[in-house]
Amino acid sequence: MRRYASVILIAFAFLLIFAVVVSRFSGEGSPGPNETFDPDKIIIVPETDDIEITMYNHRTGKLEKMPLEEYLIGVLAGEMPASYEMEALKAQAVAARTLIISKLKRFGGKGCSKNPGADVCSSYAHCQEWIPLESMQKNWGGSFDKYYGRLKQAVNETVGLIMKYEGKPIEVFYHSTSNGKTEDAGEVFSRSLPYYKVVSSPEGEDLTGTGVTFSNKEFVDIFSRHYKNSLNPNNLANQVKINGYTKSGRVKSITVGGITLRATDFRMMYGLNSTDFTLQFGKSSVTIYTKGFGHGVGMSQVGADRMAKAGSTFRDILLHYYQGVAIEHY
Ligand SMILES: [Zn+2]
Repeated sequence: MRRYASVILIAFAFLLIFAVVVSRFSGEGSPGPNETFDPDKIIIVPETDDIEITMYNHRTGKLEKMPLEEYLIGVLAGEMPASYEMEALKAQAVAARTLIISKLKRFGGKGCSKNPGADVCSSYAHCQEWIPLESMQKNWGGSFDKYYGRLKQAVNETVGLIMKYEGKPIEVFYHSTSNGKTEDAGEVFSRSLPYYKVVSSPEGEDLTGTGVTFSNKEFVDIFSRHYKNSLNPNNLANQVKINGYTKSGRVKSITVGGITLRATDFRMMYGLNSTDFTLQFGKSSVTIYTKGFGHGVGMSQVGADRMAKAGSTFRDILLHYYQGVAIEHY
């Protein structure tokens, strides 16, 4: 038995030596003396947004190549009023840059999932809004130079900056107006993300509600286009029930004629401004009142402007709406 044990021991020792030799020559394991890691030598801080991107213009149906800086000015012009505070515009510039960088293949992104060959598309419903120079000229008229200059300044003063979480560009969501609180991403999209917490947002007097009225017949018709159930138009109040609310006070789910659906689906179906809604049933119509505009996830643009007015910098704004992220060069 002892002889077998020593044979096994010797065999094991040989295996060990062999493994060390192989790992030396296969390039794995710890670095050799010439492979010292010096982070200062490899981090390149860009001085301009000097990258070319390919955008699918959903209005013309064409792919367009343009410098990143030019693209970002078009996004800002389409996504936020150019009269907003400079720090809010800068926060929007960083959010917009994060989104496009996360989509670029050279940074590990997959491009626009709807349009092969494009890094991004110009539709707010898919990637993010972008408008061309001619639209800016038309929208701003005599104030074009002033407003274009402000957007260019917001892009230039944040050059290269994006939001990262655990070293990677974050998945960016932002919206127009919250209901006073932001929404957990998991309530709107397929999964929660650690940097989208429910936080307060200073909407103030911009939080006035809006109402949209449907006749009972319209309400039933819209619903039956999506679900085959028999709603009685004469008795809607007893057939529609809100089931509960999310942590931010938005509706979580609603039951209509025995069918329970997510409030986000109900919002899309009836074209509502948000999922913070109440229903008021009349004799022959139903009015749906909403608070805020948009899905509620991430930065509220109105909230960002109000924070900037109160003295917050673009970094303060972003770190409030995107909890735990780092604002760094891409
Ligand atoms: Zn897209």
